[in-house]
This record gives sequence, C-alpha cells and structure tokens, in this order.
Amino acid sequence: MISVEEAINIILQQIRPLPPQRISFADAWGLVLAEDVYAAEPMPPFRAASVDGYALIAGDTSPTRRLVGQQSAGYVSDVEVAAGTAVRVTTGAPVPSGADAVVMLEFTEEGDGYVEIKTPLEVGSNIRPVGQDLAQGQLVLAHGASLGAPEIGLLAMVGKAEVLIYPAPRVGVMSTGDELVEPGEPVKPGQIRDSNRFSLMSAVREVGGIPIDLGKVTDEAGTLQETMARGLHQADAILTSGGVSMGQLDLVKPYLAERGTIHFGRVRAKPGKPVTFATINSVPVFAMPGFPVSALVSFEVYVRPALLKMAGHTRLDRPRRRVTLTHSVFHAAGRTEFQRAVVTREGDGRYMAVTTGLQGSGRLLSMHGANALLVLPYQQGDFPGGAEVEAIITGPFQGT
Ligand code: AMP
Ligand code: MG
Repeated sequence: MISVEEAINIILQQIRPLPPQRISFADAWGLVLAEDVYAAEPMPPFRAASVDGYALIAGDTSPTRRLVGQQSAGYVSDVEVAAGTAVRVTTGAPVPSGADAVVMLEFTEEGDGYVEIKTPLEVGSNIRPVGQDLAQGQLVLAHGASLGAPEIGLLAMVGKAEVLIYPAPRVGVMSTGDELVEPGEPVKPGQIRDSNRFSLMSAVREVGGIPIDLGKVTDEAGTLQETMARGLHQADAILTSGGVSMGQLDLVKPYLAERGTIHFGRVRAKPGKPVTFATINSVPVFAMPGFPVSALVSFEVYVRPALLKMAGHTRLDRPRRRVTLTHSVFHAAGRTEFQRAVVTREGDGRYMAVTTGLQGSGRLLSMHGANALLVLPYQQGDFPGGAEVEAIITGPFQGT
C-alpha cells in the first residue's frame, strides 16, 4: 500500500491543466488566466478631477475668480483656465488646460459669474494625473491569476473583451450499487438513498468544476460500461463511488484494469483505503469508496488538488495548522487517519480542535460543521488530550 503523499504525487504527475480557451471576459469569473494582460492605455487616460469643484491656477493669489465655463465628466470642452479665472468641474471630468489644481466645492462660495476661494491652494491638489492608477504598458494581471471580482473589473477597465483562460473542468459523477434509489423515491427493504452523487457533485462545484450527473449504475458490468462510455465522451474527469472494495460485485476496479491503467488501488489511509486512481485514454478516473464520509474525504484529499490543477491553479493544497486536541483521540496506527474536527483560534494564537463526534465512515453528520481534517499519522497510535497534531483547514475558523 502507498502513503497518502505518494498517492497525491502519482495523481498530480498524470494531471495537466486543460487546454486554454478564449472567452468573453465577463464569463471568466472563478477561472484562471492563461495569458499576461497589459494596460494598453494609461488609467486615468486624462488628468481627471477627483472631486466636484473648480479648476484653477494654484499660484494665483486672488481670492475670487471669474467663472469662465463648466466641464462635466464624460465631455471635453475647449474652455481654458487663465490667471484670475476658474472652471466648474465635476468628479471624473477632464481638468481644463491651464489649470493646475481643483478646489473642493465645500471650500468655495459661488456668486453671479465668480467664485470665492476660502482655502489655501496647492499645485496638483484633487487632480488624478494621467496613469496614476495604471501606467501605459504595465502588466496588470499575470498568467495564473485567479479571476475574482477585482480582476474582472480590471479586465473591463483595460478593455480586454476576450481573455485566454483555463476552462473549468467538467466532471462526470456516477454512483454504483444495486441498493441505491433516487432521493425522491420510496425506499424498499434493503435499499438506501443515493447521497454520494449529490455530495460529490456539490464538492465539484465548490472547487469551481462543472458537475455532470451520470446517474447511478447497478452492480452489473453492462451498465457501468455504458455509463463510463457516456462520461468519457462528455467529461474531463470522472468520479465514481462504491464498488471498489474486495467483494464479488465490486466491478469498478476490474473495469478500470481492463479499459485503462490503474495507477494505484489502495492507500494507507482511513477513511478511503480502497480509493483507486486510473486513467482511460488520459482521462483521469477517481474511483472512491461507497461510504459517504469515505467518498467526500477522498474527494478532499485526492480529487480537489487534481481538479484545481486541471483548472490552471498552481496553489493546490489547503492551509495547514498545528492544532491542540481538547480531548483524547483514538487512532489505530498503520493508516493515516483523517478525523473531522472543529478548530477555533484562541486569543493566545493557539488553535484548538474538537472532533465532530463518532467518526464512522457512514456518519456523514461528522462532516457537517467541520472546518478541518485532523491528520493522524500512521506511525503513531492514540493521542492524549493536549497533544498537537496537524490539521488541514477546510473552512473558516470558528469563534473569535
Ligand atoms: P461499497 O463501497 O460499494 O462497498 O459501499 C460501501 C457502503 O457505502 C455500503 O454500505 C453502501 O450501501 C454505501 N454506499 C455506496 N454507494 C453509496 C451512495 N451513492 N450513497 C450512499 N451510500 C452509498
Ligand atoms: Mg457497492
């Protein structure tokens, strides 16, 4: 059996960022930039007033100025400022030539055809010089930048209508098992509702992927093969859950061995020992165990970094913290165990962890409200209260 770290390395060696595509910048939120973006023009492109007021000459000492015109944002008039005169301007208006300062409306009083200045003046005040915010030719966003709200605004600002990005990975998700019924259907004796398909499709969304619902397949080779073929046709990656254990009806591994290449099929981890990674014609297939916690923890540990890499991200790992256990934790040595926990940051800077109760692989409630996975190393057994362990931080800290 390989370690968790080895498994992640094997996966990331196989995964490449998806081929970049050119799309409208307004559709690029949440994606990663696949080119450098420069400012073709300076910003602001002209000397702009930063307040409503009067454009004038600062060195001119007369307390009243003759009003010679008005300049509003969005317009350029040929009005000029000379000694003893002023031009009314609005925020964002080009500062008329001749003027070297703008005085705020609040420090003036306008009369009939003149304005009185009630504050000392300084050259350049309330004028945003050309290129103050972006110099012409400046690198604005580099290849690899994540496009959030400010970045989309920057693309709009520099007039980058079309942008080269790494597309979001389309991820086909299927469940396997004769016992599974759709959540809305009545449950007959021996059956349970399919939950993995829905938790995994949501997990795909949470990392910016596009889930494709491939439905559920029975424990029979024909339906698996048909659904896989459909998935390979539509998706950049495939997730399955269930059917990777050692049972007679666990058909996923034999299928992957026959149709593709299995890169590993067992990891020294709990939950998620039978997690299997394969490629079929270089499409990655992540076959996860059926227990609801095993499936989601396996997603977090193995699938999340892979999907981020496909989407062009270079930061693939979650932040980690050393946390102090507030109670003893049972852990059998031999496998790296991921226990779900709530971590709070204390006033003294320490991080304290409480596990979310019983940690059974079927108890999905153990993931509800958790913001961390404690990483209990395989070399060591039980941990006493007060011990420090490493935690993968999956959500915002609780408390203060
Ligand atoms: P398996 O990995 O197929 O042996 O399944 C392990 C356990 O997980 C069994 O108790 C299954 O009934 C359960 N299970 C498998 N698939 C799902 C699913 N999609 N949703 C909820 N539970 C599942
Ligand atoms: Mg099964």
